[in-house]
Amino acid sequence: MHDIAILGSGPAGLTAAIYSARANLSTVVITGEMFGGQIATTNDVENYPGFSEIEGPELTMRMREQAEKFGAEMLVDTVTEIDVDGPPFTLTTLAGEIQARAVVVATGATARQLEVPGEQEYWGRGVSFCATCDGAFFKDVPLAVIGGGDSALQEALFLTRFASKVTVVHRRDQLRAGTYLRMRAEEDPKIEFLWNKVVESVEGDARGVTHLRLQDVQSGDGSDLQVEGMFVFIGHFPNTAMFEGKLDMTDDGYVVSDRRMHTSVEGIFVAGEAQDHYFRQAITGAGEGCMAAMEAEKFVAGLEGADAGVPVEAAAVG
Ligand code: NAP
Repeated sequence: MHDIAILGSGPAGLTAAIYSARANLSTVVITGEMFGGQIATTNDVENYPGFSEIEGPELTMRMREQAEKFGAEMLVDTVTEIDVDGPPFTLTTLAGEIQARAVVVATGATARQLEVPGEQEYWGRGVSFCATCDGAFFKDVPLAVIGGGDSALQEALFLTRFASKVTVVHRRDQLRAGTYLRMRAEEDPKIEFLWNKVVESVEGDARGVTHLRLQDVQSGDGSDLQVEGMFVFIGHFPNTAMFEGKLDMTDDGYVVSDRRMHTSVEGIFVAGEAQDHYFRQAITGAGEGCMAAMEAEKFVAGLEGADAGVPVEAAAVG
């Protein structure tokens, strides 16, 4: 039995772990398949306070070390089911079962796919969703980045380290990305923009991707873009399928929470992109992880107070 089980190891989950373990609560982080979450697949992080430049994997490793220093346990496992009829709450994982008095859901979000012909076929052979992971495989060749948001531009800028040229293909004629990244991308001699274009299909041969078949959304005209790699950054969907029917959720799958990160089930809290479709920053996820852990701590104290015969409300605020 743990005091607090945290699902997810991105900035939200790891910050929750730092606060929970430092409050002397027995804390387990079930890391999920990909330790560190999305930020661990980002090369250059420039806007995390205290670090004007740090690589995403290093940032998450530092958070992990900080949490472990206070006694948090990291379990490399994946939760497949949650029994919300608690406390205690039972989590079924690939390796077994875990029980906890309180739960922090920090399962984050997953990159969306274009869902066009060729995308799956050439995945790992020219199609990628992670510039940090795969960028170095594409030295001196032309690449395409799909999307017009901050991720697309940040990763396009990173890919210029390797590629001969990076073409950003966007479905509108205006970027969604903020001014800073937009200005840097517009000034970069290796980056070009193709406006009002969508990918119809990914084409290639036995070696990998050779070109993209594009369509102009205004004229309907088709064209080919010769590239050896396509990096897709068109947003995310929350990793919350296992909470359907158990926690209140929005129509697009985000867990509903109040301003203190409480979900619809007492004792289950949520932080990061599992509940945030708007800010989605490492620092906002970390802040929410902190709030969720502080509320979980009060909840557990309330349970202990109740066990000792102290009214729950008094124990929780005391
Ligand atoms: P996003 O802001 O949702 O942008 C997704 C982009 O993909 C949009 O330009 C969208 O086009 C396009 N798109 C969506 N579906 C598409 C489809 N089927 N085909 C073609 N294009 C499609 O996602 P994001 O860039 O991953 O950013 C997510 C959040 O993280 C944002 O809040 C962002 O500010 C933040 N972020 C911040 C930084 C930073 O500050 N350094 C870095 C990365 C991410 P439309 O514009 O037409 O909708």
